[in-house]
Amino acid sequence: MVIKNKPETKKLKVVKKAASGKQRVAIISLTSCEGCQFVLLDLGARFLALTELIELVDFRLIEDMEDDGGMLDLVLVEGNPVTKENEKTLLEARKRAKVLVALGNCAAMGGIPEMKNYHEGVSTIKHVYKYLQGINNPAIRELDNFVKVDFVFPGCPINGEEFLAYIPELLKGNIPVIPDRPVCVECRKAGNRCLLLDKTPCFGPMILGGCGAVCPSSRSQCQGCRGLRPTGNVKAMRTMLKTMMSDEQFQNMTEIFGLRDDLEERERKDRSLRITN
Ligand code: SF4
Ligand code: SF4
Ligand code: SF4
Repeated sequence: MVIKNKPETKKLKVVKKAASGKQRVAIISLTSCEGCQFVLLDLGARFLALTELIELVDFRLIEDMEDDGGMLDLVLVEGNPVTKENEKTLLEARKRAKVLVALGNCAAMGGIPEMKNYHEGVSTIKHVYKYLQGINNPAIRELDNFVKVDFVFPGCPINGEEFLAYIPELLKGNIPVIPDRPVCVECRKAGNRCLLLDKTPCFGPMILGGCGAVCPSSRSQCQGCRGLRPTGNVKAMRTMLKTMMSDEQFQNMTEIFGLRDDLEERERKDRSLRITN
């Protein structure tokens, strides 16, 4: 997805103001595994300290009060809008929010569920449900197909440290910019031997860093859960990886975290740029 790093400038009518004077934040979950929300709980006391500074209007993993439906300073949305109810929740959230943020790979890139778009499409559901009546089964589409997304916390799951680092800026209404550095920077810093040297395919050079290179640090290839870097050279990467994997293997790997459609779009743009130049 393409992220426009501009805060919402339109003045929003404040329907309900926090009695506390604190900023109003909601963390909502559409169809997802909830792993990104659990990253927040894993932050423990540091997450609780953050909740002291804001009015947490909705976060179903810890809430004990109903969302009051008022306007919001910040909404974080996890997961895919799969059901009609999900879509309604998302559209409502956008109307209520000054800033709307995608929380994690599913919300931003379609994530693991997007795999079904490429394999058997709507027929995939037959492997799960015996009776299909009444089951909504649309193709997976990221949040920005439905609403304007102001910022993305990338990753599957998101990185808790990154969350804590950028939330204060978002609460001020500023849209942070994640540095355009590849996973390789953190990987080399960690002293890892590059997997490519051993002919193990790794997407690191074209993927946005910030995860601490957790996968290559465990000798696993980076499969791109944080998405493409704005200036990553995907053509060079593709050419290099052709010496290590077949086109089919490459495509399969790009489908794991919803990278395939973003990669195809980038390749299309790069091609049209070359033609116009
Ligand atoms: S991005 Fe990963 S951890 Fe987060 S909701 Fe999706 S599958 Fe779960
Ligand atoms: S192992 Fe992957 S992430 Fe690490 S330096 Fe090599 S290509 Fe980059
Ligand atoms: S190394 Fe790659 S796949 Fe692993 S967490 Fe980082 S971006 Fe995601």
